[in-house]
Amino acid sequence: MGEKIPHWLDKQNELNPDHIALETPEGTVMNFNELRRESLKMAESLLEKGIKPGDHVALLAENSSEFPIYIHALSYVGATIVLLNIRLTPNELVYQLNDAQVNCLITGKQTEVKALEVLEEAEAPVIPAFRMDKVARKAVTDRTHFSKEIDLDQVFTMMYTSGTTGRPKAVMHTYGNHWYSAIASALNLGTGSKDKWLLCLPMFHVSGFSVLMKSVIYGMTVHLVNNFDERVINESIMERGVTHISVVTVMMQRLMNNLQEGIYPEHFRCMLLGGGPVPEPLLQQAATKGIPVFQTYGMTETSSQIATLSPESANQKIGSAGKPLSLAQLWIDNNNAGEVGEIIVKGPMVSSGYYNHPSRAETYFRTGDLGYKDSEGFLYVVDRVKDMIISGGENVYPAEIESVLTGYPGVIEAGVTGMKDDKWGEVPVAFLVVDNGRINQENLSQFCYKSLAKYKVPKEFHQIQQLPRNASNKLMRRELFSALEKERNHEH
Ligand code: ATP
Ligand code: MG
Repeated sequence: MGEKIPHWLDKQNELNPDHIALETPEGTVMNFNELRRESLKMAESLLEKGIKPGDHVALLAENSSEFPIYIHALSYVGATIVLLNIRLTPNELVYQLNDAQVNCLITGKQTEVKALEVLEEAEAPVIPAFRMDKVARKAVTDRTHFSKEIDLDQVFTMMYTSGTTGRPKAVMHTYGNHWYSAIASALNLGTGSKDKWLLCLPMFHVSGFSVLMKSVIYGMTVHLVNNFDERVINESIMERGVTHISVVTVMMQRLMNNLQEGIYPEHFRCMLLGGGPVPEPLLQQAATKGIPVFQTYGMTETSSQIATLSPESANQKIGSAGKPLSLAQLWIDNNNAGEVGEIIVKGPMVSSGYYNHPSRAETYFRTGDLGYKDSEGFLYVVDRVKDMIISGGENVYPAEIESVLTGYPGVIEAGVTGMKDDKWGEVPVAFLVVDNGRINQENLSQFCYKSLAKYKVPKEFHQIQQLPRNASNKLMRRELFSALEKERNHEH
């Protein structure tokens, strides 16, 4: 049993009942009193369907204003929520449903058909699946069924990692992990109940889910945009009082292009940018446009951000992910200061482990990412440990080479991985998605020699239609060779 706090939604109903919890550009508005009332009614319906405390209830759904109601309802019931990525293939979903021992599957409107397909193959959950929007919310008869307190040590959610380096693992988050993540973020960004956070990232991923947690923990409004449309989002920032937004690189790029010569209003304080490496030219462009970009580093296991760079430091520290948040510790596993090593983190927002995996003995977590800290303690994320290439005894980081390659005219995207080599052990090989026509490999090699040490210059360049990406749109370098082979077989 851990420390207990009042249920956070009850608390917001006590403190800010009339304050808006959720709004959409289409005009949906719900205050904290209504959000709590609807969540309790939903909790009653879920109990009636047979969902019990401790059950594993999976949500396979696109973003909607109903999604947060289910999250809070399941919390009142005391069930563990398993969040599933709607872009996974049926096979991948079958694996996750079985692995997480799901008792009941709840689907969204757009995912119903996929869910039925999945359920035919998965070990059947005991409670029949149903669609989110088809449940009548019941009047609450007896409030004593529902949690009035939150036990910070209780597991609240399970979310799968993106599966970029191997099979996705179910990260268990306690209420305390989400609580401390929100608190640490607020201490760094100065966010509070008067702010409005635009949510356009998936709620099934920690980046989107954490915005819902911030909302209920701070009493802050969520401005929900279901489909990423840069025009709608820029309009919301300009006209609807949005103060914060979380984005990944492509989203920032699209918002920036759409902004053209415009500038964001002063009340817009933070564009939190994370999820993967960011090309430096893009950050420079954002800086010249006065966009308040906060580069951040985090992962499913850290319940979202663990280090963040504020715009005040951004100009001097382009490319850095900043410093660890107030409640977090972060160090580099390398005896030599300033050199690259594995990033290690510790803090109350860091998950204690994966479901169905042996528990971790250490109190800290090895991230599997490589990075270094500069003399002032600013973190630079370099690449993933598993993707590092060792060529003739030198460490080669694919992300660095990819960043150079995308600077070559005509190259849209680049992926780099290692290939066995008799002389060097391993050598880098590049896979390129190009504009149209062919790239002159000789010229491209020469271009690389200008920015990269000799041993980092790819020994082969392959043109490919599409880089292999997972359901979170992340590049899977370990599948580059097989993706190319598949394309070639397909052509013949
Ligand atoms: P898996 O763990 O299954 O291989 P994944 O690590 O891609 O998948 P996520 O938890 O979604 O799953 O992603 C977190 C990872 O994203 C980090 O460990 C890191 O490799 C990368 N990442 C996050 N932020 C940054 C950043 N600012 N710069 C570079 N990489 C980042
Ligand atoms: Mg990972």
